[in-house]
Amino acid sequence: MTTPVKYKRVLLKLSGEALMGSDPFGINRDTIMQITAQVKEIADMGVQVGIVVGGGNIFRGVSAQAASMDRATADYMGMMATVMNALALKDAFESLGVKARVQSALSMQQIAETYARPKAIQYLKEGKVVIFAAGTGNPFFTTDTAAALRGAEMNCDVMLKATNVDGVYTADPKKDPSAARYENITFDEALNKNLKVMDATAFALCRERKLNIVVFAIAKEGALKRVVAGDDEGTLVHC
Ligand code: UDP
Repeated sequence: MTTPVKYKRVLLKLSGEALMGSDPFGINRDTIMQITAQVKEIADMGVQVGIVVGGGNIFRGVSAQAASMDRATADYMGMMATVMNALALKDAFESLGVKARVQSALSMQQIAETYARPKAIQYLKEGKVVIFAAGTGNPFFTTDTAAALRGAEMNCDVMLKATNVDGVYTADPKKDPSAARYENITFDEALNKNLKVMDATAFALCRERKLNIVVFAIAKEGALKRVVAGDDEGTLVHC
């Protein structure tokens, strides 16, 4: 039996930092298990889940550029970091008995399938979690943009952006105690108020494809389940 849900197919964007927990870098096992357990909960409710994972917990192209590396080379390294995270996620899912597949935008056939849209859609329909690795496969982009791209390609009902902050606020809640969370906000309002939801390319693509975004904190127990049930959790950015 399936529980009623607001969204049937979702694209979850996990930043690399979300996998660090309280560690200074890398992948924290308890944290990744907490996240995959939340995904299992919604998969068990019948929700089809695609995941785009970042790599900032391991390597970021822009930081390496600042240390005078060639940017494109550094970005390919960043994309490889996302593949490491994707493999760790797949492993965690398997330990929970959840079927998961990794599809990489860069060919690495010994360790992951190469991205193929029809196959990815087939997996989603079969109830498998699809983890999209290596971002867009191109330097100078981010995994936020990859999430918007895969979310649009997979015809997802919504993009769920998991962050450290539980929504979009009127100001930075860490600096301004009077900052209030928006329950929902339109793309235009967010743009006019200069609120940072995702990077500009990702935001523009979601807006153009009418792919609504929910910004929420995955560290909060049960948050993902509440988001897909349509409860007041995080901030809905909509058309
Ligand atoms: N990256 C890239 N192209 C993409 C996606 C990511 O070059 O389409 C590289 C880029 O260097 C980036 C790194 O991969 O810094 C990790 O991705 P991101 O910073 O988006 O990860 P997150 O901040 O979500 O952890």
